[in-house]
Amino acid sequence: MIIKTSEGLVDIKSLNLQELTEEIKSLGEPAFRAKQLYEWMHKKLARNYDEMTNIPKSLKEKCKEHFFYACVSQERVQVSQIDGTQKFLFGLHDGNFIESVLMKYKFGNSVCISSQVGCRMGCRFCASTLDGLERGLLPSEMLDQIYAITRISGERVSHVVVMGSGEPMDNYDNVLQFVRLLSDENGLNLSQRNITVSTCGLVPNIRRLADEHLQINLALSLHASNDEKRKKLMPIANTYTLEEVIDACKYYFDQTGRQLTFEYALVGGVNDTEDDAKELSELLGGLNAIVNLIPVNPIKERDFIETERSKVIAFKNKLEKNRINATIRREMGRDIDGACGQLRRRHMLEK
Ligand code: SAH
Repeated sequence: MIIKTSEGLVDIKSLNLQELTEEIKSLGEPAFRAKQLYEWMHKKLARNYDEMTNIPKSLKEKCKEHFFYACVSQERVQVSQIDGTQKFLFGLHDGNFIESVLMKYKFGNSVCISSQVGCRMGCRFCASTLDGLERGLLPSEMLDQIYAITRISGERVSHVVVMGSGEPMDNYDNVLQFVRLLSDENGLNLSQRNITVSTCGLVPNIRRLADEHLQINLALSLHASNDEKRKKLMPIANTYTLEEVIDACKYYFDQTGRQLTFEYALVGGVNDTEDDAKELSELLGGLNAIVNLIPVNPIKERDFIETERSKVIAFKNKLEKNRINATIRREMGRDIDGACGQLRRRHMLEK
């Protein structure tokens, strides 16, 4: 994907190998140089051209003139004393900041990346959206969150979730290119089955994603079992009804065969009764889906409270009695501003 910065430079790390080959040829260089450059960027995770030992100096100079090379800078890292989760604050070339999280599980290392700087979806309980949307991230900037965490931790990343700040379906083309590059055999070659994209429910783009016939997982942020309650938590519910959202998810399953995940943040006194669980079971009955229950992570700007543990378990039991698969999300990194957008926001306010 050819993306030009405001200075007219082509974003080199957002190009696939074929596109890079065309660019390199147009600079009067042989095609094999493109392959070498691609490998340095996407396999060896080079931070700049200077690390690329088999690239001639003259080509490096041309590249610096012609291309923009995305590389995030590590501004802060916080390590959870509870579970070892690491939260990174990265700086971008234009002075913006984003957050990414590394979670270590038995099945591997999972990275949660941001897809936008800020967000314009306005979900009431979410810290990422408090200051609105700054801009969408480039494919290269999404990739480099994973590359940087691999470089810093020295460990292979096996799973990626696009569940950090931002709404991925509001940055559709860039997220799609990101998925393609991340799962490209010439790069990190991450299995699409290990990539999950989470959305608050932009119906037309869920359908568009289904038609791409990728093998990535779709997670839908549901958070309520009827439109009335959903509207109180998520402004997007004023645009698309639950029926339209669920239909789009069904369509995604039909086109891809991938099991759906529904995220449900339990908010004390708002959506956490057994009646809510019953209504949710009716809504999701017959779908090949799993419900991920997340006790809401309270943010200080809003007065939502967490559901008590016993009620969380009762909610899960009620779903299971109605034959709905459910898990309770382990709350990773509670002690390190784990909720979306909290760390970035604190950093900005402190400056
Ligand atoms: N915009 C996308 C992805 C980013 S948010 C989406 O809405 O899915 C990732 C998940 O975290 C979403 O389910 C979101 O609703 C949830 N979330 C955001 N803030 C939260 C909080 N304070 N407590 C619990 N879950 C939260």
